[in-house]
Amino acid sequence: MARYRAAVCRLCRREGAKLFLKGDKCYKPSCPIEARGTQPPGQHGNSPRRGKALVGYGQQLREKQKVKRIYFVLEGQFRNYFEKAARQKGITGENLLVLLERRLDNAVYRAGFSTSRRQARQLVNHGHIEVNGRKVDIPSFQVKAGDVVTVRETSRKNAHIEGAWQTAAGRGRPSWLAPAEGAEMGARVASLPTRDDIDRSINEQLIVELYSK
Ligand code: SF4
Repeated sequence: MARYRAAVCRLCRREGAKLFLKGDKCYKPSCPIEARGTQPPGQHGNSPRRGKALVGYGQQLREKQKVKRIYFVLEGQFRNYFEKAARQKGITGENLLVLLERRLDNAVYRAGFSTSRRQARQLVNHGHIEVNGRKVDIPSFQVKAGDVVTVRETSRKNAHIEGAWQTAAGRGRPSWLAPAEGAEMGARVASLPTRDDIDRSINEQLIVELYSK
């Protein structure tokens, strides 16, 4: 599968917002957005034209790119999520965000087993994660209410996972994930995530407008 390999902090600067792609660094003053502000990357990053407020198509496109980058999914996959969301009952934009939020790699990050979604994807790919006691190595796997997501027993001493787990409380966990009873490193999907559990700065309606053209 194709992967994004370039410097991820550029993506935050391009979107003018912290997307939390780099783990611990995102919570430190050395984060480039904290240190240098939101000037877009590149030679012409501070040109007056780049600083203009976006409207219409430009604004819709940037919002779509921002959400794609937050959840670290590629264009084709994002489009598939949108089409699935549009077929579901309810508000398409909200359905889209809930589908993204239910990805296993996102649940791993939100539960505190990793410091970023990118790291969470690696943990899933490398077989460190179990759902209901069975290894699942598909990052796009959709968790459902009642699922229990745990770190495999043999992986609990992994330094990255231990480090993330210790700092997770400081980042806060969403209400749709509860501690898993009897599991040393686990989280139970108490209910499906709702729009209120997802970043309020996202304007999903702009994405719906973009794809509805
Ligand atoms: Fe974005 Fe994190 Fe890099 Fe800051 S440190 S610019 S939040 S990826």
